Amino acid sequence: MSKRSDNYAALAAAVGLRYDEANNVLYGQKDGYDIIIYAENASYPNMLTIHTSAKSTDGAILNKDTIKTFVKENKPITRLVQKNNNIIIYLKNQTNLEKLEQAVADSLSAMSAFLRNNAFVPCCGYCGQTGQVSAYIVGSGCWHLCADCEAQMRSNISMAAQQHAQKKENLVGGIVGALLGSLIGAACILLLSQLGYIAALSGVLMAVAALKGYEILGGKLTKKGIVITSIIMLFMTYFGDRLDWAIILYRDAGGAEVGYTFFECYRMVFTAISEGIIDLSSYLTNLMMLYVFVLIGAIPTIVSKVKEKKAAGNMVKIGGYGMRDGEL
Ligand SMILES: [Zn+2]
Repeated sequence: MSKRSDNYAALAAAVGLRYDEANNVLYGQKDGYDIIIYAENASYPNMLTIHTSAKSTDGAILNKDTIKTFVKENKPITRLVQKNNNIIIYLKNQTNLEKLEQAVADSLSAMSAFLRNNAFVPCCGYCGQTGQVSAYIVGSGCWHLCADCEAQMRSNISMAAQQHAQKKENLVGGIVGALLGSLIGAACILLLSQLGYIAALSGVLMAVAALKGYEILGGKLTKKGIVITSIIMLFMTYFGDRLDWAIILYRDAGGAEVGYTFFECYRMVFTAISEGIIDLSSYLTNLMMLYVFVLIGAIPTIVSKVKEKKAAGNMVKIGGYGMRDGEL
């Protein structure tokens, strides 16, 4: 077990919940309310979120002042959000396990007292029916669902996955989209460079616009699409940079005065480098920096696309079946 797992296991034991190591969440019941506790941001394992599903017996929505008072009265809590039948409580970051245990224990007690005082009963987070629910992670969100809603959600997910799989990738459309997107990137490289910057922005924009272009006109972004778009990006970055030098040759280095056309200047970029009119090292530095910026833009865009795709088709049951002990 990692240190984080050890801590979560100890925390679960301390507050009377169970720890699901596979999904790295705590779950169980507190005063009849079904609970999931998780870290929204993996970089802050001690900044936790508590999720439960409950609704008011008379259908009332918690009013702002009630929530404000509750948050004010409970030090570890920063925010309480009601989303339909879901109550989500955000906790402050804690510096050590002991403080974390105290904060979670206090918050759980405060939450169940608060819900009870406001006549909130546990229910399915989706349909709102009271009865047995189980805890799930669906995509990037948490749910407490009854058996019917679980089946409903599973069928929705598989239908969406099927629709996505059936959607044909339009290769020509994708390439056109990537070209159009990368043209925006190339234009941005030119524009910013003429203003005197080699900006990270142009590289990032090149990557984002080209990938988005492929996805929009190609129907979906596949691995093949990512490879093709990457090649187009490499080429267009080179093209944008070379155009930039051609402008310098044509306008600033006197190309136009001696009668060269812009197109001839574009072709002469390498001659200019070999003759020392353009300094080789500044040419290379410029180009390399652009490529680095394209990478900086492309990597997170691609990673988030892949993650999004993985998460979209995911529905995981947390722990075993959470039996209601019927104490409410
Ligand atoms: Zn339901």
